[in-house]
Amino acid sequence: MLMSVTRPNYARVMSEVKRLHGEFAIANPPVDPRVIAEGVGVGLRFVRFEGANERVSGFFDCEDNMIFVNKDEAPLRQTFTIAHELGHAVLHREWAQSSEYRVLLRDQDYAGDEVHEKEANAFAAHLLVPRRMLDRFWKAASVEELSRLFAVSVPMIRNRLKFEYGV
Ligand SMILES: [Zn+2]
Repeated sequence: MLMSVTRPNYARVMSEVKRLHGEFAIANPPVDPRVIAEGVGVGLRFVRFEGANERVSGFFDCEDNMIFVNKDEAPLRQTFTIAHELGHAVLHREWAQSSEYRVLLRDQDYAGDEVHEKEANAFAAHLLVPRRMLDRFWKAASVEELSRLFAVSVPMIRNRLKFEYGV
């Protein structure tokens, strides 16, 4: 039976991220979520979504233990998609098999109130831009430089700076 969840468990998100960074000895940016996915046995497939699915960025297929990624989207978006769906794979295996699971759409990023989506977004943010790495660079680098260094979008960097340092 699926547990009903009303609020995000960010402590669990953080501990899973920390565990993965440790397990794969990730010490410097950029963090490549492809390596982590492969390391935990989650497959990646880059496919073309057509017609009604054209707006899909990606999804996690629990049965095949595989993340499907829109091959036509920009690399930074693909990185976010993989990290987000990896969050579902690591944190929400049971929920991802349920009818409540939703694919990630192109215009989705940090918004959305659904608990699992909030957790997957937090997972992606902390996986790709860990505080301990950001600490080393944020004062000396511009947002654009940080975006290049961490290989994530400028909005993601802004979001992380605001979250960690309130700037
Ligand atoms: Zn999601």
